[in-house]
Amino acid sequence: MLRKLMLLFLIIFLFIEWGPLSDERARYGISSGDPFVKEVVLTFDDGPREHGMQELIEIFQSHDVKATFFLVGKFAERYGRITNALYNAGHELENHSYTHPRLYRLWVEKIQREAERCDEVFESLGIRKTRFLRPPGGHFNMKIFNAMRRMNLKLGLWSLNTADYTGRPPEEIVRLVLRSARPGDVILMHSGTPNTVEALPEVIKSLKAKGFNFVRLEELYSRGRI
Ligand SMILES: [Zn+2]
Repeated sequence: MLRKLMLLFLIIFLFIEWGPLSDERARYGISSGDPFVKEVVLTFDDGPREHGMQELIEIFQSHDVKATFFLVGKFAERYGRITNALYNAGHELENHSYTHPRLYRLWVEKIQREAERCDEVFESLGIRKTRFLRPPGGHFNMKIFNAMRRMNLKLGLWSLNTADYTGRPPEEIVRLVLRSARPGDVILMHSGTPNTVEALPEVIKSLKAKGFNFVRLEELYSRGRI
């Protein structure tokens, strides 16, 4: 009897810990989706860059995949044409601040200003207001939450880090993603990193072969399962 009770508690605990996210958590943001649905989001930080962006657009187009880009406002301003090309290709563009500072060190007003300036650049390019903020480095605190609440932004984190910024070879990126990808994962990569561009076709092909679908963060979030 005791054993059965313990097993029941264990199942309930595991469901709460690993099951679909509660409303409470979903209200503030997202780091992964439904662990029972075979879909993932490819997210790209720090763009747009001078190089490698057109290649990304072409790879996504040839595999019929849409991704989510957390853009730095000042780069979106500098490379407006490629920012529009990303948007027109159906990718989701979200907020990664204007100058990529350590947001958690700033005052709430400054944090808000960073996010607003990124939105202003998007607006001047005819791109809709962002819904998610990914603070540089993924670090966040109450000040960031307060700024986000004022702007109606949600935290957009990740659950699988490819660490592509370390310059690891493309094969290693592919191997890591294939070994680690779980249903509902939000995969972190970086815009224009040459090794990532090289790894991407194989990442997409192999995940598709394993039965994964690719969605954008807004879809993962808005399905109501998180
Ligand atoms: Zn970044």
